[in-house]
Amino acid sequence: LNTLPSEPCDFLIVGQGLAGTLLSYFLLKEKQNVMVVDKPMPGACSLIAAGTINPVTGRRIAKSWRHEELFPFARQTYRELEAMLGASLWQDRIIYRALHNTFEENEWERRSAYPEYAEYLAEIDSTHPFESLINPPHAWGKLHRCAQVDIPLLVQRWRQELISHNRYLEAQFDYEQLSFNETRAKYRDIIADRVVFCEGAAATMNPYFSHLPFKPTKGELLLVRIPDAGFSQLIKHKLFIIPIRHHPLDPSIPADDLYWVGSSSRWEYQNPYPSGEQRKLLLNQLREVLQAPFEVVDHLAGIRPTVEDVRPLLGIHPEHQRLAVFNGLGTKGTSLGPYFAQQMAWVLMGLKQIEPDVDIGRFA
Ligand SMILES: Cc1cc2nc3c(=O)[nH]c(=O)nc-3n(C[C@H](O)[C@H](O)[C@H](O)COP(=O)(O)OP(=O)(O)OC[C@H]3O[C@@H](n4cnc5c(N)ncnc54)[C@H](O)[C@@H]3O)c2cc1C
Repeated sequence: LNTLPSEPCDFLIVGQGLAGTLLSYFLLKEKQNVMVVDKPMPGACSLIAAGTINPVTGRRIAKSWRHEELFPFARQTYRELEAMLGASLWQDRIIYRALHNTFEENEWERRSAYPEYAEYLAEIDSTHPFESLINPPHAWGKLHRCAQVDIPLLVQRWRQELISHNRYLEAQFDYEQLSFNETRAKYRDIIADRVVFCEGAAATMNPYFSHLPFKPTKGELLLVRIPDAGFSQLIKHKLFIIPIRHHPLDPSIPADDLYWVGSSSRWEYQNPYPSGEQRKLLLNQLREVLQAPFEVVDHLAGIRPTVEDVRPLLGIHPEHQRLAVFNGLGTKGTSLGPYFAQQMAWVLMGLKQIEPDVDIGRFA
């Protein structure tokens, strides 16, 4: 990484969750001069995300949008970042998905007969791979070509990298202090060609982009210790039970027998903090599934930057050319992030047009 020269920068990025991390990475890779301003705020979701990539979702077991392109590109990007940061981020995974009845079992069989699903949907497993630890569902479907990416670690390690090269300013961005003309933008004493907003769900407060149809969803999860369970793959049975290697908010705390359990999803909420009601709900679900003893270690919450049409948001402001946005990673930032961050970097450099599906112009 180059250290920030004391001259105007090309891009000032606001927000360093997954979106700001990946965008700054691709811009720096292209030798652009980047500065990032961020303040970890309640509701920021990258620091608590499970980082799973799931090729199929929903009761109908439908393939995720553009999975074939997004998955290999995501793997390549996270592998590059692993090498650069000396951190282990990517793990190939299998998801054991509970099939609750014959409808779901038939749907699984039907889908797996299609050639485009064959590599993802493996055989139905009617044995009980988790023995007495988990209440057996009707059957287990095994999903291949899934992944788990340590997004909290990535964001924290990238922040250290930015700090050590004088490219990070820890501050809450104050819109009142932003000014711009035809050619430049200025924020405090930072001059930039463009300001790119990557604020996640906090973008609903951004006076320049709040017209975009964000439909944020609050998610809550429990960190649970299940002694000696030894689950090494991802389990989806009412909720996800995911092995993790450290406490998401503090990678220096190693996690023995620790699992990420969740998550809830709600459109309506009062605040970004963990709630007693959701804790109870998650605990009830976990008790229905898990037969082994467990202990709740923590309870976390975040707000996903979901959009009405569940597609990312890339664009330059229609009236203020110095302002741009990269957001809308919603529930699937881990897979969408790398591909669209690179696209956004190329758009900002004038090397590429935005794909219509993700262009904010679709809401004009
Ligand atoms: C419980 C939960 C589980 C999830 N699990 C998965 C999963 O398994 N797989 C998956 O792909 N996705 C998952 N997600 C979704 C994923 O977290 C998001 O897609 C992604 O992290 C969004 O990143 P972001 O950078 O857009 O937003 P954020 O992570 O919210 O980052 C925004 C950043 O901008 C900062 N910021 C905002 N406004 C300002 C301001 N004015 N000044 C300074 N800084 C500011 C915030 O503090 C934050 O650091 C999950 C989300 C939740 C809540």
